[in-house]
Amino acid sequence: VLVVGSGFAGLSVARRLERLLPPDAAEIVLVSPNDHMIYTPLLPQVSAGVLEPRHIAVASRAVLRRARIHQGFVRSVDRAARTVAMRRVDGSTEDLAWDRLVLAPGSVTRTLDIPGVAEHSLGQKNLAEASYLRDHVLRQLERADGTDDQVQRRARTTFVVVGAGYTGTELAAQMMQFTRGAAARLPNLAPASVRWILCDLAPRVLPELRQALSDRALDVLTERGVDVRLRTSVERVEPDRVVLTDGETVASHTLVWCAGVTPSPLMGTLGLPTERGRLLVDPYLRVPDEPDIHALGDAAGVPDLTRSDGALTGQTAQHAIRQAPVAARNVAASLGFGTARRYKHRDLGFVVDLGGRDAVADPLGITLSGLPAAAVTRGYHLLTVPATGNRVRVGADWLLDAVAPRQISMLGFLPPDASTIARAEATEIYR
Ligand SMILES: Cc1cc2nc3c(=O)[nH]c(=O)nc-3n(C[C@H](O)[C@H](O)[C@H](O)COP(=O)(O)OP(=O)(O)OC[C@H]3O[C@@H](n4cnc5c(N)ncnc54)[C@H](O)[C@@H]3O)c2cc1C
Repeated sequence: VLVVGSGFAGLSVARRLERLLPPDAAEIVLVSPNDHMIYTPLLPQVSAGVLEPRHIAVASRAVLRRARIHQGFVRSVDRAARTVAMRRVDGSTEDLAWDRLVLAPGSVTRTLDIPGVAEHSLGQKNLAEASYLRDHVLRQLERADGTDDQVQRRARTTFVVVGAGYTGTELAAQMMQFTRGAAARLPNLAPASVRWILCDLAPRVLPELRQALSDRALDVLTERGVDVRLRTSVERVEPDRVVLTDGETVASHTLVWCAGVTPSPLMGTLGLPTERGRLLVDPYLRVPDEPDIHALGDAAGVPDLTRSDGALTGQTAQHAIRQAPVAARNVAASLGFGTARRYKHRDLGFVVDLGGRDAVADPLGITLSGLPAAAVTRGYHLLTVPATGNRVRVGADWLLDAVAPRQISMLGFLPPDASTIARAEATEIYR
């Protein structure tokens, strides 16, 4: 059984398969460029310097016992020959055979066709991007501090985030706290001179949540000084400016693109039906007419059985985590172990951490904000991170952040020329 991707969905499928299939019944092979899964909901806290990057990376080997792991990208699938073409991270290639294929390569940042966005914006989808953003904003602040040119200084201390969904909203709220704290340590910068602009075409922030929570999140953003521009997007981006659709040109060297995701380009190479790039599967997570191929997570178009309008399930960790046991069970059933079942899950709500004591959440339909929401949000993450070692480390980071000043220093792991979304998310490899 070959599983593609070690994210929320893939790693969990491989783990379940180890339990469901006796060792002599099947070999389980996992292919992923990373030797870990990233607990993405906490990425903004990596950028904001609250969490250490590795603390939200759950090692595949910590959860898997017998699966064979290949570190590489699957670039294409040959359905007739039943092989995948893999490119390892060192550039070498190999074809791997499968009897059952489970596709869970997730999604990549959706950049749209706006001039300059692909070349000049930064993503927030993986550890490299989250760590790079922290370094980048600190570098901007240092440069602002080191110049007497007021125009330059304003451009270096102005940061733009596009997309006021949960990622963009969390990021703008948390980065404002982080950068104002960092500016306070610099001799020539007034913390109040740091500006974050959050744009979205939607009429409210967090459009996926109920109105009361959007309103509360907007209050927190405004209290912190974030400049929220609704019904506004980006028309053009250049290295030193962002032209907004409301006609304003903002001098800035930083645009963070959080305006949605699109399924892994791998799905488009299969020659099978897709919807908005998501490989369509039936409620058993099987590709129709391809009973040996299953797909799940962000890259799969899974019918939402709780609705009658033919909608697909959301591209969320909540669904990916719950689809995994169903996919594993159904793959095992196809090999003669157990029975298959359909996937059905009702959304349990969202948690949005705005940093400090502020959060908004609607667990099981209950509207929460402030400290109770912050407690629920952090408790939820601690329960959901799938390895005890990571939970302890994340909890320790939160404790340290509450009692000690934040460490403000760059890591410099990713060079600027590798920071574009296409390179940081390796979307070029499918061309
Ligand atoms: C910043 C951020 C915050 C989020 N917050 C929330 C939240 O609060 N709640 C929520 O429910 N969801 C949240 N999400 C969404 C959630 O992360 C995704 O829905 C979830 O990760 C989907 O799981 P997945 O397994 O399909 O994909 P992923 O978790 O992205 O895993 C995909 C895996 O496949 C690998 N891969 C990619 N291409 C290939 C290839 N060609 N070959 C082999 N391997 C490949 C990747 O390296 C990765 O290991 C957030 C996402 C982001 C980016």
